[in-house]
Amino acid sequence: MLDTDTPTALLASVFGFPEFRPGQEEIVQAVLAGEPTLAIMPTGGGKSLCFQLPALCREGATLVVSPLIALMRDQVAALKALGIEAGALCSANTEEENAEVFDAIEAGRLKLLYMAPERLNTSGAEHVIRRAGVRLIAVDEAHCVSQWGHDFRPDYLSIGPLAARLKVPLAAFTATADAETREEIVTRLFGGTPPRSFLRGFDRPNIRLAFTAKDSPRKQILAYAAARRGQSGIVYCGTRARTESLAAALSAEGHTAVAYHGGMEPEPRRSVERRFQAEDGLIVVATVAFGMGVDKPDIRWVAHADLPKSIEAYYQEIGRSGRDGLPADTLTLYGSDDIRLRRSQIDEGLAPPERKSADHGRLNALLGLSEAQGCRRVQLLAYFGEAAEPCGNCDLCENPPELFDGTEAVQMALSAMLRTGEWFGAGHLVDILIGNPTDKVKARGHDELPTFGVGKARKRGEWQAIYRQMLGHDLVRPDPERHGALRMTEAARPILRGEAPVTLRKDAITRATENRRPAVKTLVSEEDEPLLSALKAKRRALAEAQRVPAYVVFPDRTLIEMVESRPETLDKMAQISGVGAKKLERYGAEFLGVLTGAATPEMHPKRRALAASGKGEAFDRLHAAAHQLYRGEAGTEKPLSCDTTLLRRIVERAPTNHDDLARVQGMNDARLERFANAFLAALAAE
Ligand code: ADP
Ligand code: ZN
Repeated sequence: MLDTDTPTALLASVFGFPEFRPGQEEIVQAVLAGEPTLAIMPTGGGKSLCFQLPALCREGATLVVSPLIALMRDQVAALKALGIEAGALCSANTEEENAEVFDAIEAGRLKLLYMAPERLNTSGAEHVIRRAGVRLIAVDEAHCVSQWGHDFRPDYLSIGPLAARLKVPLAAFTATADAETREEIVTRLFGGTPPRSFLRGFDRPNIRLAFTAKDSPRKQILAYAAARRGQSGIVYCGTRARTESLAAALSAEGHTAVAYHGGMEPEPRRSVERRFQAEDGLIVVATVAFGMGVDKPDIRWVAHADLPKSIEAYYQEIGRSGRDGLPADTLTLYGSDDIRLRRSQIDEGLAPPERKSADHGRLNALLGLSEAQGCRRVQLLAYFGEAAEPCGNCDLCENPPELFDGTEAVQMALSAMLRTGEWFGAGHLVDILIGNPTDKVKARGHDELPTFGVGKARKRGEWQAIYRQMLGHDLVRPDPERHGALRMTEAARPILRGEAPVTLRKDAITRATENRRPAVKTLVSEEDEPLLSALKAKRRALAEAQRVPAYVVFPDRTLIEMVESRPETLDKMAQISGVGAKKLERYGAEFLGVLTGAATPEMHPKRRALAASGKGEAFDRLHAAAHQLYRGEAGTEKPLSCDTTLLRRIVERAPTNHDDLARVQGMNDARLERFANAFLAALAAE
């Protein structure tokens, strides 16, 4: 192997990344060495690179099994943009696309062959795989082999035997870490022999965590989206109907928002997926059906309009934001109704009893997180078995909650339940506690109870928040057989007996407000915003022309680095993370043009004024000529630019010869020498 072919060298020259992300290098080395490998990395940790890079260094081709066609096609597009021979075989291919892949296979050029699992089990697949000279199999989303998981793909079961028949090593990747899934992966993919395993940390420090009690969810979501206008985001909802009404409400406020749910026809669904991948700033309002296919690195926020079903689901859903490592923001709304709904979904489901109790446990972990009294990240990571320090990037680190000893209040609340035989929901119980003699209360004689009115000192809303926190701490549960009436759990018994205290949050009782939240973090400083927008516009134009998602051209991170370091030459441009040789050649000059031209922020109003006088096009031509000659004909001379004011003066004077042009203020000798001919030609073209 040549020095220039080492993983580190290729990381820089092909992918344009100066260094590995934590954990990547060890995994790349193991895969490269042909060791059976299982890598568990959080979403956004950079799994794909861990098989793509070895695939380049190794002899022969690498077969990549990936469950989602959209995701697969994006990866292939991204690889091709880097100048790597990659192809996908899937049902969505056109004849031409298939032919292209087969040609590359026959020519022995293909380095990465992507296949959907269902394709793997068609006749002839193995022949193609052998033809391609596959020497390694990489399995993406390896948890799909787990029969317990909701992502189970039966076709995944044939991957292990295939690797054995081909006698090639297997590298499996997933973000799902629970021990049960891990064991299944080892059994089903690796035939029971433990592979070399890597378990990367689960922290995603760039994702801000926040929960707010549901107050008026529609308003809360609208306010949240308004503060993040123009950024790509996902709003998760519990029901299909809600996705549509919220998408409509967001659109009415001027956002670009679309609904997405499992009840939609396949074609509209795919169209939403495509738009989301490709468009900047689209909001998708979705049920959980929107998920696995989403591989967009620059999702800036995720909001839950309804409580997710478990702590795993929560983390997976918010984890779709900020894959690029830049700040991302999340908000989860939760209320008593959500808790009741999620509990009854578990109870009424068809799973065996031990599964149900595990599901209640996962929901409890999420409820505990929503009612957390200290740093949310500490609690979240503890659930996944990781110790952490308070993070400073969650709502509770920023605004530590006020706590109070809730023992007495909880005892009263429990007593109201017990004295009415555990047959009622929170609404009726609160009426009893505050001494509200409704017809229902009187009809049942509940105004005669000793508990009637004992909680007068607190308002209705406070008692509701207390019941919600009791649900959150799993002190009470709704009983589906009693139409959701609250029943006490074993955990509440010591509190009722006065043997254990309970601490509750005070702030959760007061109304949720958006204005206490810190200002939204922007990606670049305010004065750099226009430049970033200009780079994004250029990126969008290039992406649309090539029909690839915007980030395939360059990810946000790369554009931000361009804004921050303002490269003036292609050499400097090449040093920016994400700019490999191929992309430098393909896009470098175009983006450099934006960067050097954008040094004149007043361009837009002036350009507009010229447009009004019918001279806008002449201005644009001059502008383009000035860019082209910025470093002279050969691109090797000293940089020389013309600002907007100068260009406007020229347009207004409309010189027809060299002398006339020389009279324009600002056209000094150096500029005349470099630009005169081009400018006069540009003006004459009118
Ligand atoms: P995963 O599959 O683990 O969710 P991806 O493979 O999609 O994550 O990678 C997430 C993002 O991180 C992508 O935009 C990718 O280009 C970027 N990335 C991966 N490795 C590196 C690296 N070493 N340096 C910088 N960016 C990286
Ligand atoms: Zn925190």
